[in-house]
Amino acid sequence: MKVHLCKKVVQKFISILLCVSILSSSMFLYLPKNNIINTSNVIEITQEEINIIDNNTIEVSDNIGNPQITSRSGIDRKKVEQEKTIYEIYELIINNKTYLYFDNLDKVEIQKDYLIRNTENLSVYINSITSESLNILSDEFTINNTVENYILKYKKKVTCFPTISHRVTSTYGNRATRNDFHSGIDLAGNYGDNIYAYKSGKVIKVQYSNVSYGNMVLIEHDNGMKTRYAHMSSIIVKNGQNINCGETIGYMGSTGNSTGNHLHFEVIINDKTVNPYNYIF
Ligand SMILES: [Zn+2]
Repeated sequence: MKVHLCKKVVQKFISILLCVSILSSSMFLYLPKNNIINTSNVIEITQEEINIIDNNTIEVSDNIGNPQITSRSGIDRKKVEQEKTIYEIYELIINNKTYLYFDNLDKVEIQKDYLIRNTENLSVYINSITSESLNILSDEFTINNTVENYILKYKKKVTCFPTISHRVTSTYGNRATRNDFHSGIDLAGNYGDNIYAYKSGKVIKVQYSNVSYGNMVLIEHDNGMKTRYAHMSSIIVKNGQNINCGETIGYMGSTGNSTGNHLHFEVIINDKTVNPYNYIF
């Protein structure tokens, strides 16, 4: 009886073991089988592509079963299109007549900014084009030479002479004949001549008077500099207005403490007058 029971237990153990092993082996076979199918699919597609290229033609059918021929020339054209490189080129167009070619947007923008910063009345813009070749690109010498020539020709004026006439009738400093200190320079001219701003800046005072400076404009520039324009017949700017170099601010006259038509022009650095001669000549 004991032996019979023992035999039954051993039989049951063996059958369980067999079951587990079959199950696990079938699982093991099932999993990698899918991967293999996928791989062979990839190989089949690759081979088909090779066949298309190797054979002159291939017969395929469309959605409704009509046979269609894909010619070798069609495949070749596709291949050529893939191999051809199209370059993006940047044109720097100066005054609508000079063209410089760059392969890099940063490089062309640096040259454009440099030109705009240092010139006036110059048209500069960038255009993007495509090219099959890089032979079109401008060399460094051509770029630098062209840009420098334009800067020389169209150089931005930083300072502008305040009157039409450049004739000085009274200099800055002690005046022996009148025993006083002349805080500016007197520039001759005719009644109604334009008076120009010496530098770009902001109008900080507009004064109408019959004494002293007469009709006067004071402009504030950068680095602690101010310029004063006195004895004008009329003023055409307003307090707080931004002014460009050479912009007309008013007209020549003889208002205030003046004996004839002229401009009394002062240069003030950190609230002290200096000799304007060195600034305008
Ligand atoms: Zn004066």
